[in-house]
Amino acid sequence: MVQRRSAHNHTRDCAIWVHEFTIKEGDNDLLVVVLYLLDASVIAVLFDSIASGYHRLWSHRSYAASVPLRAFLLFGGTSAVQGSCLWWAKAHRSHHHHTDTDLDPYNSSRGLLWTHVGWMLVKTKSKTGVGNGNVEVSDLKKDPLVKWQHDSYFPLAVFWGLLMPILMAGLGWGDWPGGVCFAGAARLTVAHHSTFCINSIAHYLGSTPYDDTLSPRDHLLSALLTMGEGYHNFHHQFPMDYRNAYLWYQWDPTKWFIATCNFLGLARNLKVFSGNEIEKGMLTMELKRLKKIQDELRWPLKTDELSIWSWDKFQKEAENRALVLISGFIHDTSSFLANHPGGKRLLESYVGKDATDAFFGGVYRHSNAAQNLLAMMRVGVIEENKETQEVFPPSERLYIAQRHVKC
Ligand SMILES: [Zn+2]
Ligand SMILES: [Zn+2]
Repeated sequence: MVQRRSAHNHTRDCAIWVHEFTIKEGDNDLLVVVLYLLDASVIAVLFDSIASGYHRLWSHRSYAASVPLRAFLLFGGTSAVQGSCLWWAKAHRSHHHHTDTDLDPYNSSRGLLWTHVGWMLVKTKSKTGVGNGNVEVSDLKKDPLVKWQHDSYFPLAVFWGLLMPILMAGLGWGDWPGGVCFAGAARLTVAHHSTFCINSIAHYLGSTPYDDTLSPRDHLLSALLTMGEGYHNFHHQFPMDYRNAYLWYQWDPTKWFIATCNFLGLARNLKVFSGNEIEKGMLTMELKRLKKIQDELRWPLKTDELSIWSWDKFQKEAENRALVLISGFIHDTSSFLANHPGGKRLLESYVGKDATDAFFGGVYRHSNAAQNLLAMMRVGVIEENKETQEVFPPSERLYIAQRHVKC
């Protein structure tokens, strides 16, 4: 069915995943497909140890895990060679606590390259960097597994992250170069850049459906690259939610992995933010978007921006221009007379008069558009009509509270 190849042949094409196995004529293709799917699944789960373990379990305590699951996630996290869980979680908590500031290790205001990899390569003299964010990690220090992994991290990472994958390929099927190339270098490169994308692309590309004060963003591409961590705007707003993707159709395999562990009894107390509060975040952003549209439109003068006219003044001025009183507002219809759909003569018959009843149904029940257009013709408020302030055209400006953030 499946045969091993000689070591020297493996060296030649070690960059290709399919080099471990070849298929003879008449082989069962389905079996090979299943093998590759199993391989991909195992690798995916190990990649996910950073997302579901280091990130959602230990950095954010978004659920509780049994000892076997915690041990498995620590093993996967160690094999990813991204630092100890304690170090990683401290940096990540600092990132959330000080997002986009100098105390954020992956400060997005320093550019995409810095957030992706520069923060690890360049040591700065400023107070930035992991460990300077003054964040609380005493809970992690109480976890014996986390403490043991932290204290023994270097030999553990070398063995599980580098030696073991190479030994498996070398002793398992005689492919030492393939072990170094694929199981070692390629695997770690992909895993590292997947995690780096959370700090870089997820703070650069996409939408801000829950809050746009800071840089985190939601995007499908980021989610695909990071095992579902790319709905980062949601995550920064609701960091203790075990999900990064709130909506059912959003890609988040880490969420599904944690839910499966919960189903199997390995994880419990999965935390979710109230849908009511999540919807409020979305509504706030929607109002903000509407306000932007609103601010680009021209609106009628408000009552306190108009002068108060006596009835006598209204009558006197109406001798010179086509002033009509409707709902307590005096409107100058001079430039509209010729365009009045009901005819010029009808409108002229109300000049100098109160046409409120006629306008609102006595003669014709005017549309919302007509009411809006009329409001743009306001020139004053009649003194005698105190109820004027209660009358609004249908598309009056919304008053949207704006949050002021101290810089
Ligand atoms: Zn972030
Ligand atoms: Zn986080």
